[in-house]
Amino acid sequence: MNPGVMTLRLDGMSVPVDTGGSSRKAKLTIDRDGSLRLTAAPDVERAELERFLASKRAWIYGKLAEKEAHSHTPVTKELVSGEGFLYLGRSYQLRITDTDDHRVSLRRGKLILPRSLSDSGHQHIIAWYCTTGLAWLKPRAKDWAARLRVDPQAVEVADLGNKWGAALPSGRVRIHWATMQLRPTLVEYVLAHELAHLREAHHGPAFWQLLGRVMPDYDQRKKQLADTGASLWQGHADLRSS
Ligand SMILES: [Zn+2]
Repeated sequence: MNPGVMTLRLDGMSVPVDTGGSSRKAKLTIDRDGSLRLTAAPDVERAELERFLASKRAWIYGKLAEKEAHSHTPVTKELVSGEGFLYLGRSYQLRITDTDDHRVSLRRGKLILPRSLSDSGHQHIIAWYCTTGLAWLKPRAKDWAARLRVDPQAVEVADLGNKWGAALPSGRVRIHWATMQLRPTLVEYVLAHELAHLREAHHGPAFWQLLGRVMPDYDQRKKQLADTGASLWQGHADLRSS
């Protein structure tokens, strides 16, 4: 048997076994994405590993439930000076200021919120993501559309709930404002992905082929998006301050 290729199963979950371990005691780990992995010494028998895995069932389900609960806790933002807000992958500190300027803006590395707007500050900050994000997206949408040979009727930034983006049959492409918190390479992934849908509606092989032609590293970006996505702010206010 080749080392490192054994796979056990537990209730439909597949558990790869790394037999390069040096300890007689098998070790079970759960990765960030919830996948399981066993590490054991090469001379431990399969039946023994299967018994070990079965004995860990309650622990596994407890851990998976924990992860599930954790991933659904929304990120909240408090409207106080010093709170961090991401834009294009960089963190900017919020500064609430007394100013005659009645709009949110990015100045000298700070996200400025005029005190006059602070009662509905979260809405104003979201509106800022929409307008600033759209200005950033427009020229890039033009570039990606040319590469993908599509002709979007409009590009919009809006609240799309749990979706990063959407491509409508009318030819409009919509991007969630929360996407603008991601690094530029990941925002461009979401943008190119939705534009590609104007030619291929479904996630079939033709869709991924089309995307891969213009963005050869799309798979890597897709994985990075899945990793960072859950940690983004989606507009939830901190209850202590609202
Ligand atoms: Zn899609």
